[in-house]
Amino acid sequence: MLDSPNKLDALSAQIRSDLDRIAHPRQPWLEPKTGPDGKPVFDVAVVGAGQSGIATAFGLMRAQVRNILVIDKAERGMEGPWRTYARMKTLRSPKDFTGPDLDLPSLTYQSWHEARFGAESWAALDLIPKELWAEYLLFVRDVVGVPVENGTALRRIAPAGDCLRLDLIMSDGETRTIYARKIVLATGQEGAGLWWMPEFIRALPPHLRAHAADDIAFERLKGTTVAVLGAGASAFDNAATALEAGASEVHLFCRRATPQTIQPYRWLTFAGFLRHFSELDDAWRWRFMSQILGLREGFPQETYDRCRRHANFILHEGEAWTGASETGGRARLTTTKGSFEADFLICGTGVEMDFSARAEFDGFAGNIATWADRYEPPAEERDERLARFPYLGPDFAFCEKVSGLTPFLRDIHLFAIGSTMSHGPSGSSINAMTTAVPKLVSGVTRGLFEADLDRHWRSLQRYDVPQAILR
Ligand SMILES: Cc1cc2nc3c(=O)[nH]c(=O)nc-3n(C[C@H](O)[C@H](O)[C@H](O)COP(=O)(O)OP(=O)(O)OC[C@H]3O[C@@H](n4cnc5c(N)ncnc54)[C@H](O)[C@@H]3O)c2cc1C
Repeated sequence: MLDSPNKLDALSAQIRSDLDRIAHPRQPWLEPKTGPDGKPVFDVAVVGAGQSGIATAFGLMRAQVRNILVIDKAERGMEGPWRTYARMKTLRSPKDFTGPDLDLPSLTYQSWHEARFGAESWAALDLIPKELWAEYLLFVRDVVGVPVENGTALRRIAPAGDCLRLDLIMSDGETRTIYARKIVLATGQEGAGLWWMPEFIRALPPHLRAHAADDIAFERLKGTTVAVLGAGASAFDNAATALEAGASEVHLFCRRATPQTIQPYRWLTFAGFLRHFSELDDAWRWRFMSQILGLREGFPQETYDRCRRHANFILHEGEAWTGASETGGRARLTTTKGSFEADFLICGTGVEMDFSARAEFDGFAGNIATWADRYEPPAEERDERLARFPYLGPDFAFCEKVSGLTPFLRDIHLFAIGSTMSHGPSGSSINAMTTAVPKLVSGVTRGLFEADLDRHWRSLQRYDVPQAILR
C-alpha cells in the first residue's frame, strides 16, 4: 500500500471546490445571541465527535449554521469504538455504504481510500479496516473544518432562559459552562442509558468480569478460561480477541438453540425504509422495530471463522447464565444446563435505555417520554426493553412525559441507538447516515428558524434592496 500525501492534498482541494459549488443558499441567517454570562451563545452544541457528531456538524455547516461547537470527552482520534473497544479487524458493513460524506462523491470513503492507497487497492479491498475508518473520519472533520474540542465532557444540561446550559469538564479537571440554543447528543450506543450486563454479573468483583465495551487487558487472559455471554458480533469479537491473546479455553454461551445468523439491518437497507420509517404511525413503527431489534444483530462470516479456527473455542448453544458467585478467586456460573467455572467473564450483552444512568440528564431524566408513555402494543408484541426507548419527535428531540414541566426538552435532540424505535436506524448506524443526518439537520434548522420568526418577519418588512434601477 502506498501512502500518497500529494493525492490527499489534491483530494482536499477538490472537496473544498465541490463544497463551494454546492454552497447555495450561502446567505447567513442566524443572528448572534448573548447568554446569561454575557458571552456568545452557540446555535448548536453537538456532544460527541464520532461519525454521527461529525456528519451532523457538517450538515449544519452546509445549512449555514456555523456558530457551533462539537465536544468529545475522548482525545482526538480516539472517538467512538474504532480504536478502543471495537475488537473486529474490519467494519462489518460493506465498503460501499456511504455516510459521513453526506452524498458528496469526493468526500466518500472510496475517494479517500483511492487517494491514500490507489484505485487498485480499493478494488481489491473486501471490508474497510476499522483503523482506516477512524482515520477517514478525522480526514472528513479536518477537510470540512468541523470545530471540535476534544478532551471535553458534557457533565450536565440545564435550562437557562431561552437557551440551554452545558456544564463541561475538561480532561485536566477544569470545569466550564457554555450556552447553546440547541443540543444534539451524538453520544453513541450508550448515549441514552448504559452498557448492560445481568445484575448477578455486575455484583461480581471487577477483576472477574467486564462488558465487551470495557477496556479489557486481554494479555492478562493468557492461559486462563474465559466465558463470554451473548452471541452477537461483539461477543464473538471479544471471544476471538481472548483466543488470539492465548486464553487456554474460551466458552461462548448463547441462550438461543443456535446463534442468530440473520442480519436484519441488511434487510432494511433500502431507500423506502430508511427514508420513511419515521413517518409511519406508532403501531407500524413498533411492529417493525420489535421484529428487527428482537432478532438482535447477526455476526458476519469472518467474525465466526475467527473463533472457529481455534480448537479451544467452545460454543454452548441453548444455555443461558442464571446466576454467578465468586469461588476461590474464580467465577462460578449457574446456567440453564448446570454450572461452569471460569477465570474471567465477558458480557456481550448490548445496551439498555436508562436515562437516570446518564448524569447529563440529571434533573429531567424522569420527564423524558418513553415509548411506554405513548404507545401500548398488542399483547403478543409487548417488550419491556423496547418500551424504555425514548419517544422522539420528528426532529429527533426528546418529548415531555408531562407537558409543560421541562419544555426545554424540545431543544435536546438525540442521535444515537436510542433514536432507533422512533426513527429506525439513524444514529449509531452507518447504513442510515445518508438519510437520517439530513433529516436531523432539517429538524434542528426548523426549530432555529421557527424560534426567530418574528425577526424574519420584521426583516422582510424592512427589506428594501432594489433589483433594478428604474430610469
Ligand atoms: C464494536 C462495534 C462495531 C460496529 N461496527 C459497525 C459496522 O461495521 N458498521 C456499521 O454500520 N455500524 C457499526 N457499528 C455501529 C455504529 O456505526 C457505531 O456504534 C458508531 O460508532 C456510531 O457512531 P456515533 O458517532 O453515533 O457514536 P460513537 O462513535 O460511539 O461516538 C460517540 C462519541 O460521544 C462521546 N461522548 C459520549 N458521551 C459524552 C459526553 N458526556 N461528553 C462528551 N463526549 C461524549 C464519546 O466519547 C464518543 O466519541 C458498530 C458498533 C460497535 C459498538
